[in-house]
Amino acid sequence: MWAGVGEKIYSLDLRLVLGAFCPWESAANKIKMIVKIENVYKAYNKTPVIREMSLDIGKGERVVILGPSGCGKTTLLRMIAGLIHPDKGKLVIDGQTVADNGKCIIGPESRQVGMVFQDLALWPHMTSYKNIEFGLKVQKIPKTEIRERIDTIFEKVQMVQFRNAYPGDLSGGQQQRIALARALVTRPKILLMDEPLSSLDTDLRHVLMREILRLQEELAITMIYVTHDREEAFSLATRIVVMKEEKIQKTRTAGQIKEWL
Ligand code: ADP
Repeated sequence: MWAGVGEKIYSLDLRLVLGAFCPWESAANKIKMIVKIENVYKAYNKTPVIREMSLDIGKGERVVILGPSGCGKTTLLRMIAGLIHPDKGKLVIDGQTVADNGKCIIGPESRQVGMVFQDLALWPHMTSYKNIEFGLKVQKIPKTEIRERIDTIFEKVQMVQFRNAYPGDLSGGQQQRIALARALVTRPKILLMDEPLSSLDTDLRHVLMREILRLQEELAITMIYVTHDREEAFSLATRIVVMKEEKIQKTRTAGQIKEWL
């Protein structure tokens, strides 16, 4: 089981590796950028949390932001999701400027970004089905399509038999699958994950890492995953971005991760 995840560490994403070492290849491959973070600055009560950060993320990448607690990882994800906004700098998603110099230009509901939170944030009074349905209703998706999409996503996360269960009746891992389904059912361009496995035991974390990899590859979705756990980062990433003291310290492609071990 663990070998499956471990193998991913060694699977080179050739486009990214070539892009890192051969600039002409990068231009020829034309990897489409889906997120551009340009000189972003964010402070809480005048204390900087993100300082002059710039980062480009290509379509289909699995970028893991790795850094110690308090270095600003969640703040970065929340800015991409549109739940908070940078004080300075620019955020571009799929070619559209969504925030610019303190102004929110496109709100969270229109960014086509799905997020899985650390505490999962499932509504305890709603069944799995209702939890997943909520976002689709907000988007005013027709009823028949809602049913079809939910049926499909229940199969993808292997939770068909739990559609009428309440979060309180589910194990930690099962709740995690429902939170993942809720984020994916809206068909986001980008999946943001904020330490989603931190409360689970080691075995379950390994199983779910494999599931996350399978779903990401099946749906060819761009993933930005935040963690302080090196093992999670090495297992999941095509590129690791190391954050420390409000800044990016370095980035590593999948090929370079191998050398790093
Ligand atoms: P990480 O996800 O890396 O643990 P966070 O982005 O959650 O870091 O937090 C970075 C820093 O910003 C921490 O010092 C935290 O206490 C502070 N912080 C986070 N959210 C707020 C807020 N809403 N108001 C004030 N300070 C905050």
